[in-house]
Amino acid sequence: METGRLAIIMLGPPGAGKGTQARMISEALKFPHISTGDMLRESLRNGTKLGKKAKAFMESGALVPDDLVDAMVVDRLAREDCSRGFILDGYPRTISQARFLESLFEKNGTRTLSIGVEVGDNILIRRLSSRWTCPTCGKMFNAALEPGKAGGQCDECGTALVQRKDDTAEVIAERLQVYHTITQPLVRHYQEQGSYIAVNGDRPLEEVFGSIVGIIRGRTD
Ligand code: AMP
Repeated sequence: METGRLAIIMLGPPGAGKGTQARMISEALKFPHISTGDMLRESLRNGTKLGKKAKAFMESGALVPDDLVDAMVVDRLAREDCSRGFILDGYPRTISQARFLESLFEKNGTRTLSIGVEVGDNILIRRLSSRWTCPTCGKMFNAALEPGKAGGQCDECGTALVQRKDDTAEVIAERLQVYHTITQPLVRHYQEQGSYIAVNGDRPLEEVFGSIVGIIRGRTD
């Protein structure tokens, strides 16, 4: 068994299911799930300085500037619950963020495993436009598969589900475009480092999860 801190980086386009998978892995490994999208949405709700700076970028589907997100991640990774390992969901999203993270990991000896959840654009558009999210616990539901969830309640905590402002057709198109031009090059980046493994995300949740667990075991046992 390898020792040291392990960073599991979830890569993939919006709607691929990386958030849901990250939550499941987090429960299985007892590693914190760090979603920069969730953290930014919380800052927005709380009206913090960061939230005010990030708002317009997020609502249009653009990326929030690297320096703001990098600083937020440094603070989060310094917390005690990250000492054994953690799951990054939605970060890094640019080559510059990936390099920033690498310089941080070099200093403190963190190993990296990046897992790419791969799904085609047509499926992503369908999934994102029927996605309902719990604003309290972050759990996501697909109203096309579970019709009661459109305007319904979270089955974990009972909160009324909402549709994210950036899950509208226009913003989805922009987010996919941003993904293909700015974030997808990270796949190559991590492939070159030998730390990238892809899984087919167009399968039932539990199957995708099974593949991911197998990958993590293969790299950590
Ligand atoms: P997500 O929930 O991961 O889809 O993120 C929602 C939005 O938050 C994105 O469309 C971006 O505007 C912003 N965001 C989240 N993570 C990052 C990041 N690593 N870099 C820049 N912007 C981000």
